[in-house]
Amino acid sequence: MIKDKAVVVFSGGQDSTTCLFWAKKNYSEVETITFDYGQRHKLEIECAASIAADLGVKQTVLDMSLLSQLAPNALTRHDVDITHEEGQLPNTTVDGRNLLFLSFAAIVAKQIGARHLITGVCETDFSGYPDCRDVFIKSLNVTLNLSMDYNFVVHTPLMWLNKAETWQMSDELGAFDYIRNRTLTCYNGIIGDGCGECPACKLRKAGLDQYLAVRNDSASLKGGAEG
Ligand code: ZN
Repeated sequence: MIKDKAVVVFSGGQDSTTCLFWAKKNYSEVETITFDYGQRHKLEIECAASIAADLGVKQTVLDMSLLSQLAPNALTRHDVDITHEEGQLPNTTVDGRNLLFLSFAAIVAKQIGARHLITGVCETDFSGYPDCRDVFIKSLNVTLNLSMDYNFVVHTPLMWLNKAETWQMSDELGAFDYIRNRTLTCYNGIIGDGCGECPACKLRKAGLDQYLAVRNDSASLKGGAEG
């Protein structure tokens, strides 16, 4: 545990909630920032708020509704269906989203005296989002430091993990059941295991099944050794 302040970019989904548990374990003071950008479901903001309350961390909600003006698409608009054509970015892509979110988070972080910024972006499973790449995060970290003359450290605990390994991390943090039951990943707004049909649910379930298979195997191996 480091005696320092950290700010987590927090949506109430599996990845950012795993990051929140990770931050709570590693830093003495943790706050969260949630971006309201016309998500398909206000439920996402409510879900994030209830998780922040459960974990006793402050949540700041920033209005980013201008994103739907800049980039009208399936994530910011209710009248656009989600599609993901083979070999293309899904139409939930918002250009520059992490650039904007991390920049706003950094401004808030500096004001509260926090150096550590934590985001759940991931290059391994990434759907082609250029601002989820490690090289982008490292580049932005330098830019943020120069822009505010401040030593931010941007942490990406999930950067090199696949979905199964993210579940494993949540288990190691003692948060597996909580994250499985309380986070919202589903595009149809169903908390926990979700609708099971949308692309987000399918990705989440594939990782979960893969992890559970490994966990059950090692559990039965342990059981066998003890028996
Ligand atoms: Zn779903």
